Amino acid sequence: MNFMNYRQFFPLLSRTVNGKPLVYLDNAATAQKPQAVIDTVNELHAALNGNIHRGVHYMAEQCTMRYEAARESVRKLLNAEKTHEAIFTAGTTAGINLVAFSFGEKYVKAGDEIVVTEMEHHSNIVPWQLLCERKGATLKVLPFDNEGNLRMDLLPSLLNEKTKIVAVTQVSNVLGTVNPVEKIIKIAHAKNIPVLVDGAQGAQHGGIDVQKTGCDFYVFSGHKMYGPTGVGVLYAKEKFLEEMPPYQGGGDMVKTVSFAKTTYADLPYKFEAGTANYIGAIGLGSAIEFLNNGQKTEEESYSLCSCSPLSALQAHEHALLQRATQELQAIDGLKIYGNAAQKSSLISFTIDGIHHLDVAQILDKLGIAVRTGTLCAEPVMQHFGLTGMVRASFAFYNTLEEVDKLVEGVKKVKAMM
Ligand code: PLP
Repeated sequence: MNFMNYRQFFPLLSRTVNGKPLVYLDNAATAQKPQAVIDTVNELHAALNGNIHRGVHYMAEQCTMRYEAARESVRKLLNAEKTHEAIFTAGTTAGINLVAFSFGEKYVKAGDEIVVTEMEHHSNIVPWQLLCERKGATLKVLPFDNEGNLRMDLLPSLLNEKTKIVAVTQVSNVLGTVNPVEKIIKIAHAKNIPVLVDGAQGAQHGGIDVQKTGCDFYVFSGHKMYGPTGVGVLYAKEKFLEEMPPYQGGGDMVKTVSFAKTTYADLPYKFEAGTANYIGAIGLGSAIEFLNNGQKTEEESYSLCSCSPLSALQAHEHALLQRATQELQAIDGLKIYGNAAQKSSLISFTIDGIHHLDVAQILDKLGIAVRTGTLCAEPVMQHFGLTGMVRASFAFYNTLEEVDKLVEGVKKVKAMM
């Protein structure tokens, strides 16, 4: 498969930055959008906008139908049993806050414990801390070792009758570690403890089968998987969604409202208060369709379609990671953080004696976009005694030549500093 073909569908990739062809290596922060997604969002704004679930006019009905079709695409993507187990949210952060609040209201009381890991993004730490403060519960932390592997040997000792939920990232946004979530779920379920998996860095790199893994809650963001910003998904087992109280109140999440008593809408609407980001959700459906089937070319033939595009894309991303790892680790003074055997296509590093911000700024002058700073994971920085790192993260549309440009760029930074 020629991965150069993929680039033609992402208009932004052909732009220049600082007079240089853009090398976009900040995909873990947000991914670029294929023309199919851009067209969908534009079409809806320009020609089909009508608020969902309310009107009976043509545009309202079309948008409602397409919004619900997008929900079905999400169900298929995750292999959820029921379509109403997929709730549209504003993103991963919104999904975790929803669970931390609503699950917390129902099941967590003073003295209970919540387990997270040391490698979580702030989004999978702070909502649980807020819950613990509200309820008088305690946050327990599963550490990782210096290679970036979770200390699975310590997990059983953290789980007891007070543990109400385990929240773990599928893929670390700093270390790249692909965590053994299926194993974690098995261990937790043996003690009747549900598990939330943060799929922000996992959904676009293979995703999850929620039925096979038994995952209780799964969250991800549209913008990191080639969809629009401001939309995401919370998958939750029906049993929990039925038992948990609504998170936010407003239009669309109610059956009847009176000052004497209000009743709530059935799933999934109980958790979708107010006007949903339906254009974003339909755009996300379009991104999922793109990942599954590719995009029609002008000749109306599917140019990307192959039997299993997602796994082919992952194989390519792995090749990018391997090349980057080999080349970067050969640079004197450069240290890579995260060497897990199962690693996703991102690489975080520091260079001795050079501030991470300087590295990123000079790379930007060369047209190379990387992420720098604490990467919203301060506990990971604290683990290594650092104030920040540089992160290059790859998508399937990146090329080996771009990896080489990154390596050359880093060498230039070293020479300059
Ligand atoms: N979790 C992980 C592992 C992430 O990498 C991110 C974003 O980088 C988030 C959660 C938060 O995602 P969002 O800002 O889209 O809500």
